[in-house]
Amino acid sequence: MIGDHKLSATTRADLIRPLIEQLLQIVEPEPGRSGIAETPTRVGKAWVEWTEGYSVDPVALLKSFEDGATDYNEMVMQRKIPFVSHCEHHMAPFTGHVTVAYIPGDKIVGLSKMNRIVDAFAHRLQVQERITTQIADLLWNNLAPKGVGVLVQASHGCISSRGVRHHGTDTITSAYRGAMFEDAKARSEFLELAKLP
Ligand code: ZN
Repeated sequence: MIGDHKLSATTRADLIRPLIEQLLQIVEPEPGRSGIAETPTRVGKAWVEWTEGYSVDPVALLKSFEDGATDYNEMVMQRKIPFVSHCEHHMAPFTGHVTVAYIPGDKIVGLSKMNRIVDAFAHRLQVQERITTQIADLLWNNLAPKGVGVLVQASHGCISSRGVRHHGTDTITSAYRGAMFEDAKARSEFLELAKLP
């Protein structure tokens, strides 16, 4: 039942509320105090938002491509797309940026679609490695480009707030398809552009 994204956002938030009430009974010495009276409702709505990417079909985001690539054979890069996701191991937030680039075949896609794609994959329970490959595979499989590069840099709440409790460290993952995988020149152009200030 829970996890069924055919249920309305309101219904899902309502289903989450009693679970958070139970959690507060366990972790909070004074679960009845007024400051947290509305917390179960807020957390319910927050989790609906944090998982709304399951309701988005990323392939559909790429449908409305523009046929403008006839004279453009160079890399198109969208840099530093910010995201907030939650790790599937601890349900702790991890936040960072995605830089994504492709070398068009016959199709180009609206630039803001890159940001929407990142949102769609980030607003799920995730691991950083999977977000990285999902973005690369989506573009590679649906745009028929000559190459794709994805670079993700993120800080993980489950590393900074628990376990080793080290903050200030970050994780970098990358995925390359086509020219960015096979051609060292295309890959180093990707990396050079990605690190420009
Ligand atoms: Zn984690």
